[in-house]
Amino acid sequence: MNFCPICSNFLSLENESSTGYRLKCPGCIYYHPLKEMRLTKTFQSKEPAPITYPQQNKQITDEQCDKCGCLKAFFWEFQTRGADEQSTISFECIKCGHKWKNDR
Ligand SMILES: [Zn+2]
Ligand SMILES: [Zn+2]
Repeated sequence: MNFCPICSNFLSLENESSTGYRLKCPGCIYYHPLKEMRLTKTFQSKEPAPITYPQQNKQITDEQCDKCGCLKAFFWEFQTRGADEQSTISFECIKCGHKWKNDR
């Protein structure tokens, strides 16, 4: 284990939520960040990242559904993260809930 180079106290492991774990001296202000020893288990979220649709921004447009032939559909726009930064329009049939996308 590590000892403080200043006062030779035993360094204790401390969880600094913003910067990760670090070894901190209880006797003085010395501390040593533990980037390479990061305890990844603590930082890995068990739940997958939620797929977010901006449901509240839905608008209705004249777009025909392939499934039921309904002529109205919700649509919303979102930016793809590609380098081209194209925007994609998502549609959702107001009748049957069928979803599709349009790449511009
Ligand atoms: Zn110290
Ligand atoms: Zn439909």
